[in-house]
Amino acid sequence: MTDDATATLAAATTGLLLGGRWVPVDERNALIVDDPATGRPIASVADATLDDAREAIAIADATQASWAATAPRERGEILRRAYESMMDNLDELALLMTLEMGKPLAESRAEVAYAADYLRWFSEEAVRITGSWRTSPDGASRLLVLKSPVGPCLFVTPWNFPLAMGTRKIGPALAAGCTVIVKPAKQTPLSMLALARILQESGLPDGVLSILPTSDSAGVVSTILADKRLRKLSFTGSTGVGEQLAAQAVAGSIRVSLELGGNAPFIVFGDADIEKAVDGAMLAKLRNNGEACTAANRFYVHRSIADEFTAALSSRFDALRIGAGYDSATTLGPLIDRGAVAKVDELVDDAIARGASIVGELQSVPDEGAYRAPAVLANVPFDARIVSEEIFGPIAPVVVFDDEDQVVEWANSSEYGLASYIFTQDLTRAIRVIEALDTGMVGVNRGVLSNVAAPFGGVKSSGYGREGGDDGIEEYLETKYAAVDMS
Ligand code: NAP
Repeated sequence: MTDDATATLAAATTGLLLGGRWVPVDERNALIVDDPATGRPIASVADATLDDAREAIAIADATQASWAATAPRERGEILRRAYESMMDNLDELALLMTLEMGKPLAESRAEVAYAADYLRWFSEEAVRITGSWRTSPDGASRLLVLKSPVGPCLFVTPWNFPLAMGTRKIGPALAAGCTVIVKPAKQTPLSMLALARILQESGLPDGVLSILPTSDSAGVVSTILADKRLRKLSFTGSTGVGEQLAAQAVAGSIRVSLELGGNAPFIVFGDADIEKAVDGAMLAKLRNNGEACTAANRFYVHRSIADEFTAALSSRFDALRIGAGYDSATTLGPLIDRGAVAKVDELVDDAIARGASIVGELQSVPDEGAYRAPAVLANVPFDARIVSEEIFGPIAPVVVFDDEDQVVEWANSSEYGLASYIFTQDLTRAIRVIEALDTGMVGVNRGVLSNVAAPFGGVKSSGYGREGGDDGIEEYLETKYAAVDMS
C-alpha cells in the first residue's frame, strides 16, 4: 500500500452519524472493511445497532418539518457547497473509494465527479419545484396542485458505486426537503461516511442526515421499514433483496423506488463501425471491473462481423493491466471479494461445458486478493447461464445472430430490463430497435449511459422509479390538490 493510501485511511471518518452526532467506533462493535486487492482489513467502522436504527428514524421524523420549511435556496446552496467540496477533495475521495471497492483510481475519480454532479444538478432543482393552477371544466372551482416533500426517507445502497448510488438519492431528497437515513453496503461504508462529513461541513443542519453502516443490514433496515414515520424507501442492489424490502415497505404503505440488477444486451449489427463498437464494448463491459448494473452482459454480434469483432475485443482485453486499483498502471482491478470471483468462475465453467471457448490465452492474476482474469468467450449458446444471469465480472460472452427480429427477441427474453446497447450506422434501424427493446435505457453507438441530466432506471425485474434528470426529484415529492369553490 502506498504512503498516500495509509494517510487517507488514517484520516478516514469511521464513526456512524446519528442526526448531527458522530458515534465513534469505540462506542460500538467494529465493522471491518477489507481491501479487495489483498483481502486484508484496512479499517474498522462503527457497527450500527437496532437501537441506532430506532433513534435514526425518530431524529429524521423530528427534523422533517424544519428541514421542509428551510428555504429552497438554502437547501440548494448546501448541496452546491457539498458539490464543490467533493470536487476540491476529489483525489482523496477517489483513493478512499479504490481502497475499499477495488476499481482503478481513474475510475474512482470519474465516479466522484459523477456523484458530485448529482449534488450540483439537484442544488439547481431545489428552487424549481412547481405546482399548477387550473379552472375546473364547469368553471365553478379553481384546482390548485401543490408539491411537498414526501417525508423521512431510507436509502439502501450497494458497494459497486459507493458514492454515486448515494448522491443520486441524497441530492434530490435533500433538495425536495426530505430528511434521510442511509444504510451503505457493509463492504464500502468509508466513502459514504466521507460524504456525510462533507455535507455536514457544507452546512447541513443536525438531524437531517443519518448514516448507519452495519453488519446487520436485515435487522437495521427492517426496523426502520416497520416504523410508520418512514415515508419512502429507495433501494439500489440485487433484485432478490429489493423485492423482499419492497414487499415490507408496501405492507406499511411506504413509497418505494427500486434500482435493481441488469443483464444488458450489447448488439452489434453488420453495418456497425467495428472500431467504435469495440471501444463501446470496453466501456460497457469493463467499467467498474465489470461490476456495474448497466454492464454489457451478453454480446450479440452479426455473423458477418463476429470473427473480426471478437478478435479485436480479445486483443484489447489482452492489453489490460491487472492489479491493485491504487497502482497507477492498473487498468483492471480486483472484484469485490473472492465470493464474487467464484460466482463468475461458475458461469464461465457452465458456458464452456455447453460448448463455449475462451478466445486467446488467459492472463495470470495476483495470488492474493479477489482477481479474475478477463476473457472473451466465443461460440456461446444463447441459452448458457452466462447469457441469462448477471455476470458482474470482466467476461464478454459473444453470441452470433443472423437477423434483426431474432436478436431483438433474444435481447428481450431476459427477466431484466435496465440497459441495452446497439451499434449500427443505419438511423432508421436504430430508431426501430430503440422502440422494440424492453429496457429503461438504450445506448446508441456508445458504451456509457449514466448522465446526471437523464432519467436512469429500468423496467421488469430491474425495478421502477427514475433517478436524475427532471424525473429524479419527483420521487421525493408528494402531490396535494385543493379545490377552491368560486360560487
Ligand atoms: P445486495 O446484496 O442486494 O445489497 C445491496 C444493499 O442491500 C446493501 O446495502 C446490502 O447491505 C443491503 N442488503 C442486503 N441484504 C439485505 C437484507 N436482507 N435486508 C436489508 N438490506 C439488505 O446487492 P449488491 O451485491 O451490494 O449489489 C449488486 C447488485 O446491485 C447487482 O445486482 C447490481 O446490478 C445492482 N445495482 C443496480 C443498480 C441500478 O441502478 N439499477 C446500480 C448498482 C447496482 P450489506 O451488503 O451491508 O448487507
